[in-house]
Amino acid sequence: MKRRKTPTVWIGNVPMGSNHPVRVQSMTNTATADITATVAQIAALARAGSEIVRITVNDEDAAQAVPEIKERLLALGFTTPLVGDFHFNGHLLLRKYPKMAAALDKLRINPGTVGKGKQQDPNFKTMCEVAVELDKPVRIGVNWGSLDQGLLTELMDANAKNPEPQDAHQVMLEACVESALRSQEWALKYGMKPEKIVLSVKISNALDLWQVNRELARRTDAVLHLGLTEAGMGTKGIVASAAGLTPLLSEGIGDTIRVSLTPAPGETRTREVEAALEILQALGIRQFAPTVSSCPGCGRTSSSFFQELALQVSRQLSEGMSAWRKQYPGVENLKVAVMGCVVNGPGESKHADIGISLPGTGEHPRAPVYIDGQLATTLQGETIATDFMQLVQDYIERRFGKQTA
Ligand code: SF4
Repeated sequence: MKRRKTPTVWIGNVPMGSNHPVRVQSMTNTATADITATVAQIAALARAGSEIVRITVNDEDAAQAVPEIKERLLALGFTTPLVGDFHFNGHLLLRKYPKMAAALDKLRINPGTVGKGKQQDPNFKTMCEVAVELDKPVRIGVNWGSLDQGLLTELMDANAKNPEPQDAHQVMLEACVESALRSQEWALKYGMKPEKIVLSVKISNALDLWQVNRELARRTDAVLHLGLTEAGMGTKGIVASAAGLTPLLSEGIGDTIRVSLTPAPGETRTREVEAALEILQALGIRQFAPTVSSCPGCGRTSSSFFQELALQVSRQLSEGMSAWRKQYPGVENLKVAVMGCVVNGPGESKHADIGISLPGTGEHPRAPVYIDGQLATTLQGETIATDFMQLVQDYIERRFGKQTA
């Protein structure tokens, strides 16, 4: 799909914008002042596939911790760009802790929390000036939960005087867009270059998210960061995020995404990265790992063998990826099918690079394997699972292994 044309914004060593892949980012939930925990979580997020990680810089302890966090990450071999998330006191912290400002690869400014009334403009100006001095990009990140109330009141008042006023919700959506665009204008006035500015407007309702981002895409060519804010937990959060992001991404809108999941107690933070990767992969926008197609199973698969094999194949492929990425370039494009019975099994398996059609209830205990659309062999007996995995491994070696002269 054709991406919207934008400037290229470099976030540390990661280029972002229309000519570059849609980037995956995430945010830590550790206290930034807890350096050990924050470094460990950033490393985990980066390992899971996050290309940019945001950390909160909410107080002096957090600000003082940032340079060491960066140093420890570099010592561990992680060059993942770090974004500082500022609210209320960013203008003060950035001036008081220049090493923190220098260690960050991007500053996030929320126009709704940068200051109130007369303080808003000078505080915003200070943050832009720091960014210009240090040659850092900024994200002007509007969130409807912390929308600039002065601007909202201004638009509400203007709307009330309009002979055909819009409903209040529409005015609020327009205020979100207007907040981002006015802030962009101010940032340019304060010396920032277009290739240093990313915009976002986050809302927790998918339909509203489409509306505001389509409007932003119509009115600016700035790089856009997409995300459904407060998406929620588990399945609900993932589905809501996918619903929010899919129409926009399929229209070529959006240069970087974050899935804002609330982790269940004890759940890994990396789930939000996994969800973001899956959304981009499902849309065919990026390919990160081999695709395993498996049928949902039904009354024709009465044993759990089929589910276990599908799980085993998925696990083995995902565990192998960190080593395979270097050893087998292109392996992420592999398509594997694990099907439960003869109804759709052979057909789906033929569409995959390698696929197995397991015997359903009452069928002969034999599992035909298709490679590149052709029946290659038939497996049976106790070792079907390991035999199939060996065939997958051989296929990977043959197709993606480095050719020697
Ligand atoms: S392929 Fe067979 S087992 Fe799988 S859902 Fe379809 S009918 Fe059921």
